Amino acid sequence: MQFNHGATVPISTIDWHGKVSIVISFRGCPFRCPYCHNYELLTGSNFVDISEIESQINKSKIFVDNVVFTGGEPFMQPDALKHLVGFAKQNNLLVGINTNGFYPERIKEIICEGKVDKFFVDLKAPLDNVDLYRKISGYNSSDYPEPVNRVAESLKILYENGVEFELRTTVVRDFIGNSDDITKISGWISKHLSKDVPYVIQRGIPEHSKDSDLHGIKPLEREEILGLSEYACNYLNDVRINTDLGYEKVC
Ligand code: SF4
Repeated sequence: MQFNHGATVPISTIDWHGKVSIVISFRGCPFRCPYCHNYELLTGSNFVDISEIESQINKSKIFVDNVVFTGGEPFMQPDALKHLVGFAKQNNLLVGINTNGFYPERIKEIICEGKVDKFFVDLKAPLDNVDLYRKISGYNSSDYPEPVNRVAESLKILYENGVEFELRTTVVRDFIGNSDDITKISGWISKHLSKDVPYVIQRGIPEHSKDSDLHGIKPLEREEILGLSEYACNYLNDVRINTDLGYEKVC
């Protein structure tokens, strides 16, 4: 089987909090978030035989306890993803998938196989604001239903199936993640899922963005993100921030 490979980080301590991971990036993504810092992986091809990725996992497995599949968007290559998830489990590794939630049917299918230990899902903007979600995800196509519907469906599937997952919002000054946005996002989680869903507010680094218009923006300070997290704590019981100091639990 051929796999459109993005990149591999053999050992990482930042992709799954408290664990050591090998991180495999998939190439391709249906979104074009202006703040994306992995934009070199959004297009192009670097096809390798999937056995090459298996061999990378084999080399890392004595140093790590899990494999994190990320991107780009891993669910754009569902067969390769399923294969690699199976390979990781055969090697007694935990499996995490980082996703933007755009493929609910594929998420449901992989959940049914029972081999994924944790999902990390981007919640880019309030799901009740179609135009803002399109802007932040850079999604202009009319081929599919609105991204908000697809992401909401994915979250419903994860929640109803009792799968472990964490939601993440990247915040960029004057672009996304002001107090109103965080209030709406956390209110939505509380109303449609549960107050106990773990929620992480993470700092975007504008100078690494795909869109050069964002490059001059000053990153939010830790204290500012801490202030935003208090709005989330009004609705949720498990809120963390991720800044230059790493993960910190706020409530
Ligand atoms: S930040 Fe956006 S464009 Fe970049 S990989 Fe994630 S979902 Fe795709």
